[in-house]
Amino acid sequence: MQQNTVNMFNKKSILSLVLLLTCIMAAKAQVKIGFEVSFKEPQAHYAEVQMNISGLVKDYVDVKMPVWTPGSYLVREFEKSVEEFKATAAGKAVKVEKVRKNTWRIFSAKAADIQINYRVYAFEISVRTPFIDESHAFLSPTGIFMHPDGMIKSSSTVKIIPFNTWSKVSTGLTPIAGKQFTYKATDFDILYDSPIEVGNQDIFEFTAAGVRHEVAMYGGGNYDKEKLKVDMAKIVEKETAVYGENPNKYYLFIVHNFLKGGGGLEHLNSTTLGATRNAYNTEEGYKGFLSLVAHEYHHLWNVKRLRPIALGPFDYDNENYTTNLWVAEGFTSYYENKYLHRAGFTDVNEFLKDLIGGVGTVLNTPGAKYQSAASSSYDAWIIGYRPNENSKNNSISYYNKGEVIGILMDLEIINATKGAKSLDDVMKAMYLQCKTLKRGYTDAEFKAMVEKISGISFTNFWTKYVNGVDDVEYAKYFGYAGVNVSSENATPGKPVTGASGQLTNEGLMITSTTRNSAAWVSGLNVNDLVLSLDDTSLSEALSTVRLKSPMISLDVIPLVGKKNIGDVLKLKVRRDGLEKEISLTLKENPNVRLNATVNENATPAQKAVLKKWTGI
Ligand SMILES: [Zn+2]
Repeated sequence: MQQNTVNMFNKKSILSLVLLLTCIMAAKAQVKIGFEVSFKEPQAHYAEVQMNISGLVKDYVDVKMPVWTPGSYLVREFEKSVEEFKATAAGKAVKVEKVRKNTWRIFSAKAADIQINYRVYAFEISVRTPFIDESHAFLSPTGIFMHPDGMIKSSSTVKIIPFNTWSKVSTGLTPIAGKQFTYKATDFDILYDSPIEVGNQDIFEFTAAGVRHEVAMYGGGNYDKEKLKVDMAKIVEKETAVYGENPNKYYLFIVHNFLKGGGGLEHLNSTTLGATRNAYNTEEGYKGFLSLVAHEYHHLWNVKRLRPIALGPFDYDNENYTTNLWVAEGFTSYYENKYLHRAGFTDVNEFLKDLIGGVGTVLNTPGAKYQSAASSSYDAWIIGYRPNENSKNNSISYYNKGEVIGILMDLEIINATKGAKSLDDVMKAMYLQCKTLKRGYTDAEFKAMVEKISGISFTNFWTKYVNGVDDVEYAKYFGYAGVNVSSENATPGKPVTGASGQLTNEGLMITSTTRNSAAWVSGLNVNDLVLSLDDTSLSEALSTVRLKSPMISLDVIPLVGKKNIGDVLKLKVRRDGLEKEISLTLKENPNVRLNATVNENATPAQKAVLKKWTGI
């Protein structure tokens, strides 16, 4: 059949086919997309976006704005901030119709040149949303740029016209030579992965692992540039050593300094970090900043390139479900600690303290017994990013559980290979595999690689810790490295209520109750307003306490603190305008405090595991 097919075509039809293909290819090649972003009213938080499309000759063209931004697994509906959407075709205003929440249809009637203008309101401070005021513009690209439907693979150019008091643009996009503040994106995945900072940011640079790095600081702060250059370079070198190669030639850190800031979002060759303006000179603040740098930088491999199969090519219109965020985020949280230790910012005791603290968080989260790491990943869209008052009781963060899985997996691999291999080898091999296959990994492929490198089965491990909710056998795993872990009650001899709330003028508004606690069992509800305890008014019960925050646990009230396990606490509460009494029989604190220490008398085998684990 196949052989005869050619004979069905005569010379003429082959010629027309060739002509047709040439035309299609020429038409595709001729489509040009260009953006120009300017700022008429930055003080009112607006960007003016002009999008020019030429060569797309159709009855109508649909353009779309993503509903979410990769790395932050929540549908954010960026299209809701678009205003005054207008279009012209061949210079004349044309009809525009909205055909989906994030899609505008432009009736261009086969005109070759389409110009679109719209404004975007940007006033949400975060690393994943655009923000504009008179001091700067942070163009988080998924909330600014649109793409023609079905043309994610098309290239585009972006020209930024800074507001008249601004002079700088920082972005990971490739600059076009000879054109000021003009950049090229080879496709929309690149454009959507390249945030743009516009303003008067303080820029400094350093080279590490052969890569030029720029840091663009917005918002001021007490950072020491020379110190940061040295310390950030150390982290970059340690991270590159794990993967054996650094795929970028240029990398940009956009840092937003606030009164109190945090969080970061990873991109292919850049990241946006939130930081606390004046915390750089405190030990805790500086360590926190370096941890964030280590975390987001590690993502340039883990999740951006070594990625779960569902995370790219992205569907920008819908949720993208994966069960592997415990690797993407949890392992990255684990590696923060490894890098800080390897780069010399923490000693072995601090390293162990950080890790065992992570184990303790999982042990002390009631939801860890109800939700697995895989399910936590899958439900990031509906639970992880949208927690409610009961989330700690029925869910576990894939960051926390994933970090613990990373610790256990690393120790299991090192122990099984007698110190020859570690999780580093898995990460590197998976990165190279994704690069070769040009696609993300499946959960089965990740497990297969762990088994190949360790030489042992991880089926039981996956059943217990990835897909199951088994208690973490921390003593066994830390024991491989000759590390002893002790566990004690978090508040020995002291009972807990399991309720916390926010102080108001009228009383304490309960905001959370812990599963199976005295509060939970006795039916104290979230939104109950606590008026008195054992017939003592709340204000009197709190009269001797100096509070740092209006968010408090009932347990900090001295009257509660004086009670013993089994004692009854009588609360008068107001619920929906009606007063009622609730009696709590106080219970022992279910939370534990873990402490990890290196056993000086460890066996040589244990010492070898510890050495490989710490990487020093
Ligand atoms: Zn992360």
